[in-house]
Amino acid sequence: MTQATATPAKGYAAHSATSPLEAWDFERRAPRPDDVSIEILYCGVCHSDLHFAQDDWGMASYPVVPGHEIVGRVTAVGDKVANYQVGDMVGVGCMVDSCRQCKACNDGLENYCAEGFVMTYGSPDKHDGTLTQGGYSDSVVVSERFVVRIPDKLDIKSAAPILCAGITTYSPLKHYGVKPGDKVGIIGMGGLGHMGVKLAKALGAEVTLFTRSESKKAEAKKQGADHVVISTNEDEMGAITETFDFMLDTVPVQHDINPYLNALKPDGTHILVGLLEPIDPAISGANLVFRRRVLAGSLIGGMPETQEVLDFCAEKGITCDVEMINIDQINEAWERMQKGDVKYRFVIDMASIKNAG
Ligand SMILES: [Zn+2]
Ligand SMILES: [Zn+2]
Repeated sequence: MTQATATPAKGYAAHSATSPLEAWDFERRAPRPDDVSIEILYCGVCHSDLHFAQDDWGMASYPVVPGHEIVGRVTAVGDKVANYQVGDMVGVGCMVDSCRQCKACNDGLENYCAEGFVMTYGSPDKHDGTLTQGGYSDSVVVSERFVVRIPDKLDIKSAAPILCAGITTYSPLKHYGVKPGDKVGIIGMGGLGHMGVKLAKALGAEVTLFTRSESKKAEAKKQGADHVVISTNEDEMGAITETFDFMLDTVPVQHDINPYLNALKPDGTHILVGLLEPIDPAISGANLVFRRRVLAGSLIGGMPETQEVLDFCAEKGITCDVEMINIDQINEAWERMQKGDVKYRFVIDMASIKNAG
């Protein structure tokens, strides 16, 4: 039986766009019949956490506890929970609810819910209107539909980033039909890009990493890339015209997409997962039209596919490269992340929150 009272929680919150994260005591909602209560063990640190908290997207609400790469242990389940038991190792990603009725939701594509999904932090709860709060905290309460199982074979610390970085790259590779032997380019090697390399490789593709920095060449090979192209080198870019079946573009800031379109074969597909703004410089229509190329986009993935990528990573032995931190190092970690100084994801050891002031 679930004890239906709100429970005290400890988190790290931003109280304004300019204030650092600091310890904050708050409450998790009284569990509903379909809710799973989770003790958070680890939480990955995603660029979106920082963008949201610093209000770069103009959608922030405060205080906000960021964090949407959550791994933890089930501590209680509601009466209607069918698939989880106390003690299970589980994960929560970028969403905690949706309308559960539209076509997208019925197809297991809650990420494309017609009403918009409820984000793990900073969204109003559909039932009581309170703001959701994320994983930089010691516990969370989530409807079982938005909980996934962490396979036994996965190392739980490095599994956390699969819940955002992993699914964001896996979903488009699967949806657009990457198959063994395809030539796939991965643009950028941050948290998303390095997972893209590993996942595309595991799907049987021949993988080329595009990066601006010569220094990442050896590192990319170590991650499994077959080839590395320095995107600022005109000779290297000129040598790959009409070579690729797919480009997975993980770069979240403006960059010229035209040279990458020209690196696609006829019918090739360029998939955006990082860039949300109007594209600048503009794309020449000719680069699409003359070779019937496709420009596409993709946003995280639905709940069934989030379970699928976790199982796939367990089966193939894929983990995220992580750097563990304590919660009181989070502000420093955000500064380093902004400079690209992390290989490739920070993960917070949440045991550290018990002693953090
Ligand atoms: Zn994320
Ligand atoms: Zn829906």
